[in-house]
Amino acid sequence: MRKAIISVDLDELYCYYAIHSIKTVEEKRIIPVAMERFLELFDRTGVKGIFFTVGSDLADQATLEILMEAARRGHEIGCHTFSHHYDLIKRGAGEIREEIFRGKSSIEERLGVKCTWFRAPGYNVSGVVLDAAVEAGFSFDSSILPSPFYYAARAAVIACMKISRRESRSIVGNLSHAFAGRMPGRISTARGEIEEFPISVFGAAGIPVIGTTLAAAPEWLFNRMMKRVAGRDYLNVEFHAIDLACAETDNLDNRLLVEPALKKPLDARIQRFSEFLKIATKN
Ligand SMILES: [Zn+2]
Repeated sequence: MRKAIISVDLDELYCYYAIHSIKTVEEKRIIPVAMERFLELFDRTGVKGIFFTVGSDLADQATLEILMEAARRGHEIGCHTFSHHYDLIKRGAGEIREEIFRGKSSIEERLGVKCTWFRAPGYNVSGVVLDAAVEAGFSFDSSILPSPFYYAARAAVIACMKISRRESRSIVGNLSHAFAGRMPGRISTARGEIEEFPISVFGAAGIPVIGTTLAAAPEWLFNRMMKRVAGRDYLNVEFHAIDLACAETDNLDNRLLVEPALKKPLDARIQRFSEFLKIATKN
């Protein structure tokens, strides 16, 4: 029987400030309200999802409570490291290990769940990262986005920001992963094996099957994705918390409107995500 993997990366607003080089002292949080909307969407479409959680965000009471609720409703809680450093792969082995171990233990201790799924920040993994993930006891990794399209687009954005003297915290990453396999498989590390579930992509360029694309795609592309992607035997769809944020209702900083999903009205996004999820999860 076919089973789609549906996940949400719980990247807090500070992650977006870092990517877009937005200077602010604001400590606004978006995860609690966005997750409420995701839980509602998943209930309605019969989805059991994986919420990839950044360990340090559990210090926020509202975030902790909504994650407890997600676990109660039968969703999986995955680990998205402790601090969500975009340049994790460039850091020393000791720090990488600490980020992964601490992320996992904070989730398991504070939420009382077993954490078996790992996803690195910014789709960037290395041998050292996967080694640490195996050592920490993760069974599954879902960090690789085999998308030449995304790789090129991200490199271009980072280059443009450099030219305009703004510094993005995002990094270009490993080119070979842009051309990695699109099906699940086992990866061997020095400490053992881990099962890799790449994020699904579409077409020769590898357009990512993620919330941003589903929300921002023109009608013809969305319809094509519905037809071609949703019926596949293997499907791994990734959302982000911000995909169900609303600039007006949630009173977001206007500078975040560079995020493509936010340009589309929230109702229209929910409509598209429901349509897609209904088909994607059909057996
Ligand atoms: Zn992330």
